[in-house]
Amino acid sequence: MSNDKIKTLIADTENIIKNFDRFYAGKLYIDKDIPEIAKVSTQSVENEAPKPRVIKKKPESVVVKDKSAVAEIDIFGNENIKREEWEFAETLDELNAKINTCTKCGLSKLRTNFVFGVGDPKADVVVIGEAPGADEDAQGEPFVGRAGQLLNKILEATGFKREEVFILNILKCRPPGNRNPAPDEAELCRPYLDKQLKLINPKLLLLLGKVASETLLKTKEPLNKLRGKVHDYKGWKLMITFHPAALLRNPNWKRPTWEDMQQFKALYEEMTGKKLESEKNT
Ligand code: SF4
Repeated sequence: MSNDKIKTLIADTENIIKNFDRFYAGKLYIDKDIPEIAKVSTQSVENEAPKPRVIKKKPESVVVKDKSAVAEIDIFGNENIKREEWEFAETLDELNAKINTCTKCGLSKLRTNFVFGVGDPKADVVVIGEAPGADEDAQGEPFVGRAGQLLNKILEATGFKREEVFILNILKCRPPGNRNPAPDEAELCRPYLDKQLKLINPKLLLLLGKVASETLLKTKEPLNKLRGKVHDYKGWKLMITFHPAALLRNPNWKRPTWEDMQQFKALYEEMTGKKLESEKNT
């Protein structure tokens, strides 16, 4: 067979394999050395057919458990993906049990309690703050103390009961002196939040305050530009309002918070078809 015919044959075969792979949505593994095979083949002597390319089935993973992590080993014995054990949690309780001894960042040494979050594990709404404060660290529950009581009032005034939503923070451990979360702390801790959201699968997120907004949305836009709009976080719709602790410092922000919550309520009702019975303005 001539080299030209071999090249044409290789090109045709490549197209067939690519279409196969597309059709099976990546479930087939195709040798990546196609150019190398082509080069060798065209150098081959006349009448020598190119070696048939091997199509391998995607390796089935074998889960090997150790103390803290899970390694996936392919059928050739290669360790190619590492996933931590908590990533396989199927309930919030299971997740909590697997992460509440986390030591990924230095805040683990300072915490009194790990603050996982609280509320309905199948809530339509997840309320997200930035990090636990002193009261939260002491009690192991987010949004307790004065800011927490104010949050409860805001939720009730909008038509939600605290126990009907799920309340959590981006960081699960308290930063000393209530400082803002450091970027590396937030990045290390955020996968836990993402997993919580996957397990709860809420309809809507309510983000509290500038720091949480900057951290989650990776933006430097001022809070006033972010409020009143619907944002997206990994496929979840999200609205933003002031943090209750900021409202305690600046009561003038209560009115705009009320307006934010009315918008949030309208969006919630539109998305869920449910009607909220809200109380009068706090
Ligand atoms: S803040 Fe998050 S990442 Fe850091 S130790 Fe606590 S749980 Fe782990």
